Amino acid sequence: MEIRNSLQTGRSEALFEAAQRVLPGGVNSPVRAFRSVGRTPLFIREGHGPYLWDEDGNRYVDYVLSWGPLIAGHAHPAVVEAIQQQATRGTSYGAPTALETELAELVIEMVPSIEMVRFVSSGTEATMSALRLARAFTGRDKIVKLHGNYHGHADCLLVSAGSGVATLGLPDSPGVPARAAQDTLLLPFNDVEATRALFEAHGQEIAALILEPVAGNMGLVLPEPGYLEALRAITQAHGTLLIFDEVMTGFRVAPGGAQSYYNVLPDLTCLGKVIGGGLPVGAYGGRAEIMQHVAPAGAMYQAGTLSGNPLAMAAGLATLQLIREPGAWERLVAMTDRLAMGVMEIAEEVGIPVEGAHIGSMLGLFFSEQPVTDYASAKLSDTTRFARFFNGMLARGVYLAPSQFEAAFMSLAHDEEALQLTLHAVGETMREL
Ligand SMILES: *Cc1c(COP(=O)(O)O)cnc(C)c1O
Repeated sequence: MEIRNSLQTGRSEALFEAAQRVLPGGVNSPVRAFRSVGRTPLFIREGHGPYLWDEDGNRYVDYVLSWGPLIAGHAHPAVVEAIQQQATRGTSYGAPTALETELAELVIEMVPSIEMVRFVSSGTEATMSALRLARAFTGRDKIVKLHGNYHGHADCLLVSAGSGVATLGLPDSPGVPARAAQDTLLLPFNDVEATRALFEAHGQEIAALILEPVAGNMGLVLPEPGYLEALRAITQAHGTLLIFDEVMTGFRVAPGGAQSYYNVLPDLTCLGKVIGGGLPVGAYGGRAEIMQHVAPAGAMYQAGTLSGNPLAMAAGLATLQLIREPGAWERLVAMTDRLAMGVMEIAEEVGIPVEGAHIGSMLGLFFSEQPVTDYASAKLSDTTRFARFFNGMLARGVYLAPSQFEAAFMSLAHDEEALQLTLHAVGETMREL
């Protein structure tokens, strides 16, 4: 792979050397290692607004945004202040606080299907717990997930799990017992007929169908018209709970998530990323009748020492309030639209075949000549061309996720200057491909 290497990254390289001696692969989450784009990762020193600075002092416009959470941009003054204010009063009590109720009320107001919510500390915990709840509520064992959807790293969900796993080329992970995955059934995204057939055969045994209503972990793939409605009808007819994993799409596709954008209401919703404003938060919620089964209201056990952590609640509240400010959401979507259209125009002008999608504050770009509607078609993309694109953009000061199978994110802090810098870099890089 030919790598453009005009960047001075000596300090990052030295730090990576040191990290690899004490952390497996030098990182604490695999995609951060940049393996699929043929280079070593940048070590980040700070972030402000739409920009990141690495340890060598290079500045980048950031479209990773900590993999989604930073919808307000880096170090937004309101978020920083909320965290500082709370920190002076203590960082954790292991006892209830008013902040938890306040954030719960805001989430319930924003996300249409949620009547009650439980806070946890990661998206992984949210999906794992939602599935346990669905199994407890229905008394059934089997679950259905979709090829290329990622729901965190719980054993029963680490099957055909999209980006991180796809990029590493691991079809599955060693250490997941066959028995842990044996109750997980798989379906392709956007395939109503296959869903109908599976439910006709096994409907009575299936506790839940979990999916990303807008898929963001195989690149960005939108649901086809009628698909989510069909899933709603099929699951309902079989007494199966429909779970929307909105860890990525919540407060991103729309302030009320993909469910409000498409007006399809799931039984349970998983949240994460934006809900914590850059601190570790996840949540699962849904109809009160189901949520009342969670301990101590009900018998389904689930707990967490740092769940509902006051610093995290404060950061989440400040972040959600920012996206609700008058005009904020409209600006965010307008910037996303302009970037998406700008990139498509450049690709067409230069003659590079791409498939683009965008929705709310999320964008995706496949180097592919075919429409991308599911995991199988996503995988036909040219990952070598993506790696060249990634490295060319990085050298020009634009930080993208280091994988063809990730979405890009826009923040409230991305301004005209950041947008123009990005489009200029896209033009130069595409002409080089
Ligand atoms: C990121 C993500 C998760 C996992 O969240 P973590 O906080 O990384 O555990 C689950 N589901 C979806 C859709 C995600 O994008």
